Amino acid sequence: MANDTVYTGRRLPGREVVIAISRRDPSDGLLTSSGEQVRHRVKHSPDGMDWGHGGAGALDCARSLLIAALGPAAQCEACGGRRRVIVHADPDIGDTPYDPAGEKPGPCDAVYDCMACDPAGGYRILPYEAFMHDFVAGWNDDGWQIGRDEILAWLARHGVTAARNPGAAGPAGLRAAKGGPEAEDSLLDPAVRSRMALADAEDLVTDAIAGGAGMEVVERLRDEAEAARDAFDADSGR
Ligand SMILES: [Zn+2]
Repeated sequence: MANDTVYTGRRLPGREVVIAISRRDPSDGLLTSSGEQVRHRVKHSPDGMDWGHGGAGALDCARSLLIAALGPAAQCEACGGRRRVIVHADPDIGDTPYDPAGEKPGPCDAVYDCMACDPAGGYRILPYEAFMHDFVAGWNDDGWQIGRDEILAWLARHGVTAARNPGAAGPAGLRAAKGGPEAEDSLLDPAVRSRMALADAEDLVTDAIAGGAGMEVVERLRDEAEAARDAFDADSGR
């Protein structure tokens, strides 16, 4: 059960931090490392996440944790995380996510920036600033631990649920239909998955440059985007 996921934050020598993802065995309570980490979703702090005080690093920590806990349900439903929607001339159709590689808009349709989401990554508008005040800012400098179930309960109290409409268009709806927000990315077509990873990686580069990150950070993110591009090309048979 994904509800047994536990996030553990700790500080490496220097100021670098990691948030490890483990699974708690419900029978004996023991934690097993998943070998994965919560990814830093860059918005306020290109240089990294932080905790134990308010500020840009703590905001990014809060936001990245909420996105990790929600999984695919963190994506904006209106645009499927792509940040652009087709506004159809036929009002019965409503807006649908715009995928440059997919369905072409009709001659009378228009493509607009999605107004429903956080432009940094195409995520739902999330109350991460409140989460920072409630949790992240007060965490011990050396380390902390929080369960995904606790985060989801807090989100539910703030009006955000992980349940999505399975009929919704776009990858979020697609994934919800295939097993709810706890469904893994592995259920997606590899080409779709790698395209989303590529979009994420390119966003990180853009965000880092916009946020004034150092050349070292930008270069590293560029390398990662390059690798994501290669993976996408391979998965899409180019
Ligand atoms: Zn959106």
